Amino acid sequence: MTATQNFNETLREQLVEIRELGLYRELRKIGSPQSVRIEFDGRSYLNFSSNDYLGLANDPVLKEASIAAIEKYGAGAGASRLICGSLGPHHELESALAEFKGTESALSFSSGYTTALGTLCALLKNEDVVVLDKRVHACLVDAAKLSGAKIRVFAHNDLDNLEEILKWADQRSKSTSTARRSRTLIVTETMFSMDGDRAPLRELVELKEKYGAWLMLDEAHATGIFGSRRTGLAEECGVSDRVEIQMGTLGKALGAAGGYICGSRSLIDALVNQARSFIFSTAPAPVIAAAARSAIQFVRSKEGEARCRKLWANVDQWLRTETGSLSSQANEKVRSDQKPSVIIPILIGDESKAVEAAGALRERGIFIPAIRYPTVGRGQARLRVTVTASHAVDDIATLREALGFVTNVKFGR
Ligand SMILES: *Cc1c(COP(=O)(O)O)cnc(C)c1O
Repeated sequence: MTATQNFNETLREQLVEIRELGLYRELRKIGSPQSVRIEFDGRSYLNFSSNDYLGLANDPVLKEASIAAIEKYGAGAGASRLICGSLGPHHELESALAEFKGTESALSFSSGYTTALGTLCALLKNEDVVVLDKRVHACLVDAAKLSGAKIRVFAHNDLDNLEEILKWADQRSKSTSTARRSRTLIVTETMFSMDGDRAPLRELVELKEKYGAWLMLDEAHATGIFGSRRTGLAEECGVSDRVEIQMGTLGKALGAAGGYICGSRSLIDALVNQARSFIFSTAPAPVIAAAARSAIQFVRSKEGEARCRKLWANVDQWLRTETGSLSSQANEKVRSDQKPSVIIPILIGDESKAVEAAGALRERGIFIPAIRYPTVGRGQARLRVTVTASHAVDDIATLREALGFVTNVKFGR
């Protein structure tokens, strides 16, 4: 066997194992824009799986801003931000972000994933402690590992467990006498991506202040849809100005792509100087920055307010259905609160059963993928339904009916 044959044979064996566990994944080629209806394999499906909560990804407002930016700035940025790729649209996006979030400053990255990597690695060293909620997104886990800091994990939304860890970290930092005082950073999401529940933000902020720790909030699934200004859950809870690091993505409710950090001028300057995923990467295409900026302007407008109201009206409609209330009850196991959410997990448990249920829905013309390990824990497989502002009343009725027909889906009971 040649080395190349051996290489491919080894990978094939690896893939067989993945298949046997019901964890095999493959790409689907979608032949339409992101929307309530998507096309693949020659068929149109009613889509309940996108994070395009406000229906902005294919909105004329974003498309026009994008076309104008392409006309003026071309396609690619040509270099990293610190060389000669820091174009007008990047700066305009960052001013818009800071104004939107009410922070001194903001910085955009090419994705939420690289935002997390760059930020944690720029702020933490080996002697520091990073404290993660058990259910944070993979990018935050990877970032924590890469930073080299000591990782401590607290049970999901468990403030007592968090406090124990903070006490330990506080003692530890007092007892070590180094020139640089060791840092403790708590990292959590505001709206959890796979469970649709919320972090107890007010209590988190009080705790971190009690122990002199810092707090980083990932608002990936909250930006654009929570709070009276629609900036996120930190705003809704009235804690925005007590959070050191506000992170989010421009690729979900904002319909574009990229990630951001909002915070103090010193934070942003530190990242420009030390966030490696920002420094050593070509700047995002100017068109994408322009699209994201127009999305922020839209969200802030009266139309944005109306779009957001439509989203929550759709969520209400779902919750009023029998299936909706059933799924909320069944999901007590995964959700630590029962507040309305655009993310509706329908817990199935077994990986293969979840895949079967998703297949049965597809046969009925509805697209909701099975979410499995490692995105969620083993035996925690689920259908992750997301409701958007673009769904019509009838679409939600169709979903309800189809879920009822997928008889082996007993909502985890
Ligand atoms: C999607 C997501 C990210 C990553 O953002 P991208 O812009 O898609 O890279 C980060 N955190 C959470 C909680 C997410 O759901």
